[in-house]
Amino acid sequence: MVIWKSLSETDIEVFNAINGEIKREDEGLELIPSENYVSKAVMQAMGSVLNNKYSEGYPGKRYYGGQEFTDIVETLAIERAKKLFNAEHVNVQPYSGSPANLAAYLAVMKPGDKLMGLALSQGGHLTHGHKVSQTGKLFKAVQYELDPETKTLDYDAIRKLAEKEKPQVIVSGYTAYPREIDFKEFAEIAKDVGAYSMADIAHIAGLIAGGAHPSPFPHMDIVTTTTHKTLRGPRGGMIMCKDDDRLHEKYHSDSKYNLAQLIDRSVFPGLQGGPHMNIIAGKAVAFEEDLQPEFKEYAAQVVKNAKALADALMEYGFELVSGGTDNHLILIDLTNKGITGMQAEKALDKAGITLNKNTVPFDPRPPFDPSGIRLGTPAITTRGMKESEMKEIASFMNEALENINNDSKLKEIKQKVKDLCSNYPLYELYKA
Ligand SMILES: *Cc1c(COP(=O)(O)O)cnc(C)c1O
Repeated sequence: MVIWKSLSETDIEVFNAINGEIKREDEGLELIPSENYVSKAVMQAMGSVLNNKYSEGYPGKRYYGGQEFTDIVETLAIERAKKLFNAEHVNVQPYSGSPANLAAYLAVMKPGDKLMGLALSQGGHLTHGHKVSQTGKLFKAVQYELDPETKTLDYDAIRKLAEKEKPQVIVSGYTAYPREIDFKEFAEIAKDVGAYSMADIAHIAGLIAGGAHPSPFPHMDIVTTTTHKTLRGPRGGMIMCKDDDRLHEKYHSDSKYNLAQLIDRSVFPGLQGGPHMNIIAGKAVAFEEDLQPEFKEYAAQVVKNAKALADALMEYGFELVSGGTDNHLILIDLTNKGITGMQAEKALDKAGITLNKNTVPFDPRPPFDPSGIRLGTPAITTRGMKESEMKEIASFMNEALENINNDSKLKEIKQKVKDLCSNYPLYELYKA
């Protein structure tokens, strides 16, 4: 067939860029806490002919013909997600985490309603009501903050703010928060002020699925997530919620739909058209992997590795926000080292270590060149690295950050990084 040629034959520029990325991922240490490596099986599902199919609607209720296989795939993804999270209702169609959040908000709020979330500069996500995000423009955003002393969640202050502001939705779940979240407490606060409780578990979904972080179920009304971070699936989003008509009576006595129906209608036809069925197939494959006993071990190891890395970094005099970590993520305030987040990110990049500059809570510096860096262990744990490698990585980081202007030293470290990574090859998988 005329279109069935290999990429290497038809588009050498894109082919070469992809191969460059394979080499980059294989030879470097990926410490960005929102990144991971998916299996060959997930890649195959994403790269399948399911890409070609339009399937607006939901299984059994589509607007186009020819849905006998898409219905199987979407139903598998939904059923596996329900099992993985103990969720009552699941929508696997959101294109990514941000549209999942927008769809969830618009299911239960009207423009001008009040949304309460953690400020971006404190570890929240853009879509939790930041002023440059549509979520901060469509809704009246109320932003809570961390305790200025401990840099952790202050549930009394959050309750007081919620009682004063009476928001329609309270969001928990973060992008740069290294500590455990008390979802039960959040759900109680929301219930007491008549708000929907929503957890955005984009970062920690894999830890929750693997039993390494307390679950937002059965407490939360709505749970949104990405599927590509610790869940180790394709880039995408998902919304889970209670399927409970009592909620309907409480909040939507004038609506003929319950919460689950409102969520589904908000995703399609409210916000999206055709679902990406190849990606939904990738979600189904990833969720099945996440249901295996090995994934529990993975989730536990992610946390053990983060603690080991945190301890080793503290021994080198790095100051960790909140004094450590409970999850996959570490936030370092570099102020005492006399370097900025941007300088650190650049130097580490030269040493083959990828992470990102990040604001720290109450950061006196601007977001473009903040005081901190954010790193995490999901990707390196997928590679098979354990506690002893974490010590090595901390020493590489320390050496690099003591030599941010010494390019030959950084090059030397890059070689050591490459040697370490060669013991944990990634893409032999793809050569098969
Ligand atoms: C990553 C993330 C998102 C957004 O996901 P995208 O897929 O990048 O749109 C939303 N919320 C939180 C807490 C996140 O960490």
